[in-house]
Amino acid sequence: MTIKEVVKQNPQHMLARAYHFAERAHSGQKRKSGEPYFNHVLQTAETLRQWHMDDAVVAAGFLHDTVEDTKTSLEEIKKSFGDEVAFLIDSVTKLGHIKYRGAENKAENLRKMILALSQDLRVIFIKLADRLHNMHTLSALPPAKQKRVALETDEIYAALAYRLGMQSVSGELKDLAFPYLHPQENKWLLENIKDLYEAREEYLRKIKPTLEEALKKRGIRPLTIDFRAKRHSSLYQKLLLHNMNMDRIYDLVAMRLIMKNVSDCYGALGLIHQLYPPLPGRIKDYIASPKPNGYRSLHTTVIGPEEKPVEIQIRTKEMHEENESGIAAHWIYQEHGSKRKSHKNLARLSEELKWVEQLRSWQDKFQNPESDPAELLQAMKIDFFKNRIFAITPRGDVLDLPAGATPVDFAYHIHSEVGNECVGAKVNDQFVPLDHTLQSGDVVQVLTQKNKRPSEDWLAFVKTSIARDHIRATLKSKERSLTRRTPTKTELRIVVEDRVGLIKDISSVIAHSHVNILSLVTNASQGSKFPIDKVLCEIVDQRKIEKLLLKLKQIKGVKEVSYRLL
Ligand code: MN
Repeated sequence: MTIKEVVKQNPQHMLARAYHFAERAHSGQKRKSGEPYFNHVLQTAETLRQWHMDDAVVAAGFLHDTVEDTKTSLEEIKKSFGDEVAFLIDSVTKLGHIKYRGAENKAENLRKMILALSQDLRVIFIKLADRLHNMHTLSALPPAKQKRVALETDEIYAALAYRLGMQSVSGELKDLAFPYLHPQENKWLLENIKDLYEAREEYLRKIKPTLEEALKKRGIRPLTIDFRAKRHSSLYQKLLLHNMNMDRIYDLVAMRLIMKNVSDCYGALGLIHQLYPPLPGRIKDYIASPKPNGYRSLHTTVIGPEEKPVEIQIRTKEMHEENESGIAAHWIYQEHGSKRKSHKNLARLSEELKWVEQLRSWQDKFQNPESDPAELLQAMKIDFFKNRIFAITPRGDVLDLPAGATPVDFAYHIHSEVGNECVGAKVNDQFVPLDHTLQSGDVVQVLTQKNKRPSEDWLAFVKTSIARDHIRATLKSKERSLTRRTPTKTELRIVVEDRVGLIKDISSVIAHSHVNILSLVTNASQGSKFPIDKVLCEIVDQRKIEKLLLKLKQIKGVKEVSYRLL
C-alpha cells in the first residue's frame, strides 16, 4: 500500500495522523524553491517507505522538520505519536545542527560523530531520505550554501550511506552533489559523454543476442543481462587517474550477467572468452578471492566486434544483492588501498574497520529472516561509540575523545601549547570549569593565556594519556628550569694558609655581612700547605657576594676566594 492509500483508507493509522499533522504544521510554509514545505516532508516519508522502513520511521519522516521549523514542541509530538517517534525527531533535529565545512581530515570524525549522536541507525536513514530531497532542490539555494551542502553530502552523507551498504543511495547523493562541486568538469562530461554513453549501450545491446545464443547452446541461461552505466561522479574519479582519456575507460557502460549459481558464472566466463579474446590482465576472479570488503564477482574485459573493449561482470543474484546492499567496506578499500603500507594509516584503517565490522554484524542480523523483530530494533541502536565522545572546535574540526573527557583533554588534543596555556573553556558558549565533562556534539572553545603553565591538579581529572603525558612533562621541565635559573645557595671556596683562629675570623666576616652560613667544610687537617675551606651560604645577591669576597681577601692567611651559585 502506498502512503496515500493508507491515508485514505485508515485515517487512524499512525501514518495518516503524521501526514495530517505535518500538513497542518507546515501549512502556508514554502521551500526556497517555491514549492509547499509539506511536499519536502512527503517526499522524505515516501523515500523511507520505499526503503521498507517501519511506520515509526516513516511517521518521523513526515514530522522531521516540525520541531525545528514550526511551532510544534517535542512534547506535542510525544503526546500524539509516542516516545519512539519523538526520539527519532529529536535526534534528526540535533543532527541538523552539525555542519561540515571541509575542515581538513576531519570528515571521518564527523561521520563518527553523526553516528554517535544518532544513537540509532534509523535516524541516519531519515537524514539520508531528507538529504536526498534537499539535493534534488539544491538549485534554489544561494551559491555559497549550495557548495557547502554539496560538500557535506558528498563527504559525509554519501560516505555514510556507502558504509551502510546503501550503494545506490550513496551513488545518487554523489551524483547530485557533483555538478555543484565540479561545475566545469560536469559541463565537460555532459558535452563529451552523452553520445558516448548512448553509443556504448547501443553497442552492448547488439552483442547481447549473440552472447545469449552462445550461452543457451551450452545450457547456460542467465537470470538477467543488463547494462550498467558508470555514474558521473565515479567516472570523473576514474578519468582523473587516466589523464581524462576516455579511451581508457572500459566500463563506461558494463554488461552485467546475473547467474543462477557459481558454476554458471565460470561457465559463462569461459564461453565469453571463447567468443571474444580477453584483454590481458583484466580478468578478475573476485569469487575465488573476494575483495577485502567481501565484494564477489567475476570481471573481464574482452575485445568485442569492431575491436572495441567491453567490460563484463558475472555474478550470482545473491552476490549481486550483497554487493549492492551489504555493508560495503569497499569504500575503505578504494580510499586506502594505495596507502596501506604506511603504519599510521594501518592503525587508522583498523580503527575504521572496527566500526564497519560492527555495522556489518548489525546488517547480518537484519538480513536474517529468522531474527526476532524486537531484537532487530535493539540491533538498530548504535552503541559502538558509547565509550567515545565527539566534540567540535569553533572552526568545525571534530575531535574524537574518550567518554568523560574534559576541556583540558580537548585543549591538549588541539595542540600541546593550547593545553599548556589553557586557562578556561566555553562549551556551547557557556563558561565551564576545566574539569567539566564534555558531551558529543559540544562546541568547545579553549581560552588560553601566553606563557601559562599546566597545573598539577589537572592530573586528577584528565582522561587522555596525551593530556596526562604533556602535563607531567611540562611540570617536570618546569622543576628543572627552576633549579637552573634561580639558584638557592652560594658556595664560597677559600684557599688559605692555615693558622689558629682563621676559621673563626672567616665565620665572623661572613656573619657581619648578614649572610647565613649553612655549612662549613675545611680540609686543613689533611696537611696541605694551602688547604681549601668550602663554605655553603644562603643565597645572596651578586653585589653582596662580591663585597664579601673583598672582605674575606683582607683576612690574614686567605690566599684566594671564589664562589659559585648552586
Ligand atoms: Mn528536512
